[in-house]
Amino acid sequence: MTISADPMSPLKRVPPLHTAVDVSIANDPEIQSLSPSALLVGIERLRRQRQAVILAHNYQVPEIQDIADYVGDSLQLAQHAQKSASGVIVFCGVHFMAETAAILCPDKRVLIPDPDAGCSLAQSVTASEVRAWRQEHSGAVVVAYINTNADVKAEVDYICTSSNAVEIVASIPTDQEILFLPDQFLGLYVQSRTGRRMHLWLGECHVHASIRPEDIDRLMNRYPDADLLLHPECGCVSQCLWRLAEGELPADRTLVLSTGGMVRHARECISAVDIVGTEIGMLYRLRKENPSKLFVPLREDAVCSYMKTITLKKVYRALRDDVYPVEVPTDIAARSRDAIERMVAIG
Ligand code: SF4
Repeated sequence: MTISADPMSPLKRVPPLHTAVDVSIANDPEIQSLSPSALLVGIERLRRQRQAVILAHNYQVPEIQDIADYVGDSLQLAQHAQKSASGVIVFCGVHFMAETAAILCPDKRVLIPDPDAGCSLAQSVTASEVRAWRQEHSGAVVVAYINTNADVKAEVDYICTSSNAVEIVASIPTDQEILFLPDQFLGLYVQSRTGRRMHLWLGECHVHASIRPEDIDRLMNRYPDADLLLHPECGCVSQCLWRLAEGELPADRTLVLSTGGMVRHARECISAVDIVGTEIGMLYRLRKENPSKLFVPLREDAVCSYMKTITLKKVYRALRDDVYPVEVPTDIAARSRDAIERMVAIG
């Protein structure tokens, strides 16, 4: 396994706390005059007028999850956007997710309430870096995680999600060299599950990378009977798999899952306590859907400020002013569509 040469550390890419849209909202007399309840009524009125559907990622703030027509992980949101009969989609998530929906739904208008809702992981690799990496490994197959921008997706052979990455890599002929990007922790997890050696891009999500093995020890000591749910982007995953093999973690209660997998597990399993290793927004949905269970975050400070840039006021403004349309250049959309559609079909 090799690690790509020195891409700029995503940890240095600090997410914006105040965006240009925040400034517009602060200077918008109508929006500033709305009480919280009037804001909700206004969103509902505009949603009906525009016949729009509101999609929200599992990491969105509670009040956005509460008004959404559908809440899910990035794959589920892409699938839902494709199936929706509505011509207008207000996408409450980060930009690469809205781009994926726009590529899958060329006849629909996809709006993102704040275009500065980025992603440190998606920003850790560019299209020109992928082209250069390919040149260094001529003939290699490139597998990209869904958390990439559209121009990067256009350069790769396969796109995967955290729930199907293992199956996709396992399906590639064993004599084929594989470049995997951008998440090194997901890549390490896929390597350990498939036994395939891959070249890994040194990208990471600044939120999940901060979740470390020490956090697990602290909480497993406090809740020894809990199920441990880990997202494969977490910085602790490869060490956890090693500890699992050594018998240091319970094999039947340690699970590596996408956020959609966590939702299903919480519904179906009998454990009274789940320790949850992912972004903190996930806890709201788990607790809301399973009020009798205890969900404990591995880290209280695992907060994605990109996801939190979306607010009710911005959703109102998106519907009122028809902003901000997510448009992917035709050639990039065409080059990435087949791979995205294959990924959506695999599920
Ligand atoms: S949690 Fe990480 S991977 Fe997800 S949107 Fe935020 S920065 Fe990107």
